[in-house]
Amino acid sequence: MNLLKQTRIILVGTSHPGNIGASARAMKTMGLSDLRLVNPVRYPSAEATAMASGADDMLAHVPVYRQLDEALAGCGLVLGTSARQRSLRWPELSPRGGAEALVEAAAGGPVALLFGREQSGLSNEELDRCRALVTIPADEAYSSLNLAAAVQVLSYELRLAALARTGPKSPADDLPPEDRPATADALEGFYTHLEDTLIRLDFLDPDNPRHLMRRLRRLFGRSTPSVNEINILRGILTAAGKGPRR
Ligand code: SAH
Repeated sequence: MNLLKQTRIILVGTSHPGNIGASARAMKTMGLSDLRLVNPVRYPSAEATAMASGADDMLAHVPVYRQLDEALAGCGLVLGTSARQRSLRWPELSPRGGAEALVEAAAGGPVALLFGREQSGLSNEELDRCRALVTIPADEAYSSLNLAAAVQVLSYELRLAALARTGPKSPADDLPPEDRPATADALEGFYTHLEDTLIRLDFLDPDNPRHLMRRLRRLFGRSTPSVNEINILRGILTAAGKGPRR
C-alpha cells in the first residue's frame, strides 16, 4: 500500500493562492497527492497555478470544503501544525515523530495533517480535531515559516518516514475491526454525545464551559480508543442520560 497516498494535507483558510500552488508542488515532489482546501480566501487562482509549476495537474482535482470535518471524513489519526505553543498545551510532536506516527497510522486508513492560516494559524476549535501538534523547531527569534515552506519540510519528513518503513503491515492490520483505533468521525460523535450528556447532567454549564471539553478531548485522545471502546463509552453515556433504573 502506498502510505503517502493515504496521507491528506489539509490547508485551512489559506489567504494567499500562491501558497496553495507552492504547497501542491512541495507535496508532489515528495510523492504526496491528497491535498484538500478548507475555505481558501481566493481559489482557484492563476497565482496558484503559476506557483504549482509542474504540479498544476494536482490543482485541477483539489477538493474545496466549507467545513473542516468534511475534509477529515474517514480519517484516523489527525495532527495539526503550529509555529508556537498554545496556552492550554496540546501534546507536541517533532516533525520526525509526527511523520512517523502518521505513516504508521496510514497503514490502517486515511490520516491528515492540518496547516493553518498565514496570519493566525489554526483556531482552537480546529486544533481540537487534532490528537497532537507538530512544531518545526525553528529559531526562537522568528519561528513562523512560510506556509508552503512548512508543507515542504513536513512532506519531506513524511517521505523519509514512508521510505524507512520496512514491514508492509501496520500492527492495526492484524486486529479485528472492532479493536482498531476509532476514526476521527467516530471520536467526534462521541465528544458530541459526551458534551450533551454532561450538560443534561448539569456537570457542564454551557455558559461557563471552562475548557472542560478540551481537557476531556486531551484525556481520551492520549489513549487512542478502539471502535469497541468508543461503543462502550457511548453506551455508558446513553445509560447515564436516562438516569438510574429506580
Ligand atoms: N502567526 C501564525 C503563523 C502561521 S504560519 C501562528 O503563530 O500560528 C502558517 C502555517 O504554517 C501555520 O498555521 C502552520 O500550519 C505552518 N507553520 C509555520 N511555521 C511553522 C512551524 N515552525 N512549525 C510547524 N508549522 C508551521
